[in-house]
Amino acid sequence: MDQVDVLVIGAGVVGLAVARALALSGREVLVLEREAGIGMGTSSRNSEVIHAGIYYPTGSLKAQLCVRGRAQLYAYCLERGIAHRRCGKLIVAHTPSQVAGLPDIMARARANGVDDLVLLGADEARALESRLHCAAALLSPSTGIVDSHGLMLALQGDLENAGGMVVCHSVVDEVAATGGQFVVRTADGTELQATTVVNAAGLDACAVASRTTGLDRVHVPRARYAKGNYFTLAAGRSPFERLIYPAPEPAQHLAGLGVHLTIDLGGQAKFGPDVQWTDDPEDLVVDPARGDAFYAEVRNYWPELPDGALQPGYAGMRPKISGPDEPAADFRIDGPAVHGLPGLVNLFGIESPGLTSCLAIAERVVSLLR
Ligand SMILES: Cc1cc2nc3c(=O)[nH]c(=O)nc-3n(C[C@H](O)[C@H](O)[C@H](O)COP(=O)(O)OP(=O)(O)OC[C@H]3O[C@@H](n4cnc5c(N)ncnc54)[C@H](O)[C@@H]3O)c2cc1C
Repeated sequence: MDQVDVLVIGAGVVGLAVARALALSGREVLVLEREAGIGMGTSSRNSEVIHAGIYYPTGSLKAQLCVRGRAQLYAYCLERGIAHRRCGKLIVAHTPSQVAGLPDIMARARANGVDDLVLLGADEARALESRLHCAAALLSPSTGIVDSHGLMLALQGDLENAGGMVVCHSVVDEVAATGGQFVVRTADGTELQATTVVNAAGLDACAVASRTTGLDRVHVPRARYAKGNYFTLAAGRSPFERLIYPAPEPAQHLAGLGVHLTIDLGGQAKFGPDVQWTDDPEDLVVDPARGDAFYAEVRNYWPELPDGALQPGYAGMRPKISGPDEPAADFRIDGPAVHGLPGLVNLFGIESPGLTSCLAIAERVVSLLR
């Protein structure tokens, strides 16, 4: 049986960031990926936003790793020439309760270490974005966008330069913990022995953990899926320079961040993602009928959106570990102190802001395995 030091399951942005960090720390690393290439899962079906870290509960892993990961990601993009833009975002309020909630959002952001938000009146917001309709807004200057594929290629490049490797078309079927080692079996019958296993299988992380013999099932959360659909502008460039997010209604459970407008690096606008709970993680088709609700939501902040301007774009699937009526769960980075198996880390519920946080998540995994 072939032997390897570290085996990472999944070559999404998080698996690649973890593999890179472990390889740079001197470990021998192999990444097994089910698909034909890297980043073909959730990592290529998201908004590509570098989040500031505003909304997440203070002290949560999401808040800590987003704020740290954002700073690391901007620095990494500059160092490695990865396309990105610190374009900023406006959180826009229309209703009296949304306006009244803006100071609370600012206070939470400050508690999370995000101290650059600026409260704007309607006229000040319109001076920045002339087509914007709102009663008040918060400007987040440190929010940006990134080329997620460029990022993943850079992570893979660093991994390979440090001696690591990604093997595609390799489906991990089972992990068996035996005497301080792991035997990992793939669908084609290959067996590999590893001292360390990191489960970064995204939407399948719970399923992979449930096929890990030796791991007590109490440490495997139930997988839940919330699809996020996007619609794009049929013609023309984005009417806005900055990202536009509706302010949440106070006390709203956030399964997503509302139908917002994001811009890609080519200047095209997309709207979404909405939230559609499903039992089928493979269902990534956008139902055109969902567009009706988009018109209403987008016209709250862009009343000039013409009829017929939106066309179905793409969808991504949120790897959730909390259900529709529950508060959003935090990231779970379960190391040996949680489940008692030395050398194993399971990553569960790595939804947004997982892209922003990838380098900080990787740092956390390295420290758990030290
Ligand atoms: C709609 C949407 C919008 C989002 N927007 C943002 C955003 O703007 N900013 C942000 O910071 N985050 C955002 N996110 C979150 C972000 O996309 C994810 O947190 C991140 O991509 C997760 O990366 P990952 O590597 O954990 O998972 P994935 O990208 O899903 O990678 C997991 C990999 O594991 C592989 N795999 C699965 N099972 C096996 C197996 N048995 N054997 C081998 N390989 C396997 C899969 O093929 C896949 O390539 C968004 C997410 C969604 C759904």
